[in-house]
Amino acid sequence: MSERVGYVGLGIMGRGMAHNLLKAGFALRVWNRTASRMAPLVEAGAEAGESPADVAAKSDIVIICVSDTPDVEAVVLGENGIIHGAKPGTLVIDCSTISPSATRQMAAALKEKGIAMLDAPVSGGSEGAAKGTLSIMVGGDAEQFERALPAFQAMGKTITHVGPNGAGQTVKLVNQVLLVGNTLAMSEALMFAQAGGVDLQKTYDAISQGAAGSWMFTNRAPQIMQRDWRPGFTIALQQKDVRLCLDAADEMGVPLLCASLVFNLYRTLEAMGLQEEGNHALIKALEHLAGFEAGNI
Ligand code: NAP
Repeated sequence: MSERVGYVGLGIMGRGMAHNLLKAGFALRVWNRTASRMAPLVEAGAEAGESPADVAAKSDIVIICVSDTPDVEAVVLGENGIIHGAKPGTLVIDCSTISPSATRQMAAALKEKGIAMLDAPVSGGSEGAAKGTLSIMVGGDAEQFERALPAFQAMGKTITHVGPNGAGQTVKLVNQVLLVGNTLAMSEALMFAQAGGVDLQKTYDAISQGAAGSWMFTNRAPQIMQRDWRPGFTIALQQKDVRLCLDAADEMGVPLLCASLVFNLYRTLEAMGLQEEGNHALIKALEHLAGFEAGNI
C-alpha cells in the first residue's frame, strides 16, 4: 500500500502539486491557512485537515510548499505545527524555497523526535506544478530520497538527489544566481541594442540561438519587446530568492556581485510599486537610469 501523504500550503505551486499526487493515486490530506483554498482539492478527493499537526498525525509523508523561511518554521515548529503531530518515522518534505542553514536547523530539530526531513525545492513555475513536470532538487538521506521517489515522480520530471540536508536549497539558490545574472545580461543587451539603433526583433532572430542565448532571452525578450509585464515569476518572489542568495553568500563569505546589483535594481522597482510585475521588468530599472525605453511596439 502506498504511503499516506499530507500537503501543507495550497498556493500557486502547492495546489498543482497536490492535484498531481491525487491523480497518481495517493491518499491525500491537505491543509491551507486560508481554508477556502482547500475546497477544490477536497472536491477532487482529498481530506481537509484541521492544522499542520493534524495532517502530520494522519500521514506518513508530509509535503510543505509555503512562501518563505519564517513560514516553513511556523508550519513545522510553531503552534499546531507538524512537529507536534508527527509520529517517529514520519517524513517531512519541504518544497518551498528557503534558507539552507534554517533548513539544516529544522532537520536537526525534527531528527531529535525521530522525524526525517528532505529539502526539495522546485523549479518550473506554476505551469510545471500543474503539469507535473517540475525539476526537484533534493537534500537529505539517500534512504529517505528513495522512499519519497514515488511522490516526487507524481510532481516532477527531473528529480536529483544533490546531497545532505540543505544541499537541495543551495542548488536552488545556484539556479537563482544564474537566473538573475541572465536577466540582467538580457536587459543590458536590449538597452544597448536600442541605443545602437538596430531593430530588436532582427537582433533577437540573429543571436537567440547562438552561444549568447539563454532560456531567459528566448522566452522573456519577446515579452519585453511587446512591453508585456505579466509575471511568470513576480519581482516580489524573485527578490525573496535573491535575498536568500545574498544571506547564504554572506554566511559563506563569498562575494556575489551580479546578484547584489540585481537586488538593488529590484529594490528600486519595488519602490516604484512594481513588485507584482514579472521578473523581466528588471529592464525598467535600466530604462530609468538611461532615460529611454527599449521595445518594438
Ligand atoms: P503563493 O501562491 O503565494 O502561496 C503561498 C502559500 O503559502 C499559500 O498557501 C499560503 O497560505 C501559504 N503560507 C504563507 N505563509 C504562511 C504561514 N505563515 N503559515 C501558513 N501558510 C502560509 O506562493 P507559490 O508561488 O505557491 O510559492 C510557494 C513556494 O514555492 C515559495 O517558496 C516559492 O519561492 C516557491 N516557488 C514558486 C515558483 C513559482 O513560479 N510560483 C516556482 C518555484 C518555486 P494562504 O493561502 O493562507 O495565503
